[in-house]
Amino acid sequence: MNKRSITVIPGDGIGPSIIDAALRIMDHAGCNFHYDYADAGLMALEKHGELLPQVTLDQISQNKIALKGPLTTPVGGGFTSINVSLRKLFNLYANVRPVVSFEGTKSRFENIDIITIRENTEGMYSGAGQKRADDNSSAEAMSIITREGAERIVTFGYELARNEGRKKVTVVHKANILKSTSGLFLEVAREIAQRYPDIETNEMIVDAACMNLVMYPERFDVIITTNLFGDILSDLCAGLVGGLGMAPGANIGKDVAIFEAVHGSAPDIAGQNIANPCSVILASIQMLEHLGMADKAAQIRNAVRKTIAEGQTVTRDLGGTASTTEFTDAIIANL
Ligand code: NAD
Repeated sequence: MNKRSITVIPGDGIGPSIIDAALRIMDHAGCNFHYDYADAGLMALEKHGELLPQVTLDQISQNKIALKGPLTTPVGGGFTSINVSLRKLFNLYANVRPVVSFEGTKSRFENIDIITIRENTEGMYSGAGQKRADDNSSAEAMSIITREGAERIVTFGYELARNEGRKKVTVVHKANILKSTSGLFLEVAREIAQRYPDIETNEMIVDAACMNLVMYPERFDVIITTNLFGDILSDLCAGLVGGLGMAPGANIGKDVAIFEAVHGSAPDIAGQNIANPCSVILASIQMLEHLGMADKAAQIRNAVRKTIAEGQTVTRDLGGTASTTEFTDAIIANL
């Protein structure tokens, strides 16, 4: 049988080591992929003279699925974020960021299981109308919400909630103040919620959502929200389960999907073989679920869960002393 090809972007800093961990685990679980390696980020700048070479984009278009390590965006020099570029180029409108408690991680809460669905292309991140007065006395940017964009992300969120047997959606907004943009998003969400009577819908203003998430996280199931709020809330949620080392994200469009860790390239610990590979491993689990390989996804998730619960061979951020390689070997042994 032909192997399914996926694009693999090892990325910068700790990227290559944690991506390697995820690939080794998928291979041992018998996922049977062919990996097409591609460059992006600093690595690509050195090799190809640009952060996001056309050859990488062509390969993602062809394979339609990519697993991506974190990329370093050089500071200054007019470089735009590669991640934002990828989302725009492939119209990856849905950013799906699940957080789940793992027994054995150092976190304030247990039994957290929240998915943040963040609109990935509009709002404050559309990049429209960025202006600064010549004398630096003022600055402005435009936030654009379209009915089409709101309908697309809210429908995506409810469909995901239904498919995963989830019970409750919380629509997070700021429609009391941002009456036009957040107001339109909320109006559309209310209309679409009518089509999903099997799912309880809550509405919450973003500031109240922050307070409720840290006080009563168990009241949340699926959060659907706009770009900037989703960016912030999903990091808050990562904090509820022990930080960025356990936070994956999927960027999903109509044709292409890119899976990644939420964290960055961690230059402070790069090359030391001490990074926690779990975020990218959990991203690979999201990828397997997206590809309809739920059994492999569950197998890997159980091995990660068991290894962390045993607590003997985990990385420093999880309270252990193991290297990235030793932690990965332990997960493979538990497959
Ligand atoms: P970062 O997420 O790389 O690191 C923040 C802190 O968390 C650091 O102390 C780091 O050591 C630690 N950390 C992160 N991942 C870890 C892991 N897997 N295991 C153990 N510790 C981990 O954020 P930063 O330092 O602000 O950004 C570094 C670079 O990454 C920047 O160039 C930034 O633009 C880029 N970045 C890329 C992405 C992406 O590609 N998706 C996301 C965020 C930041």
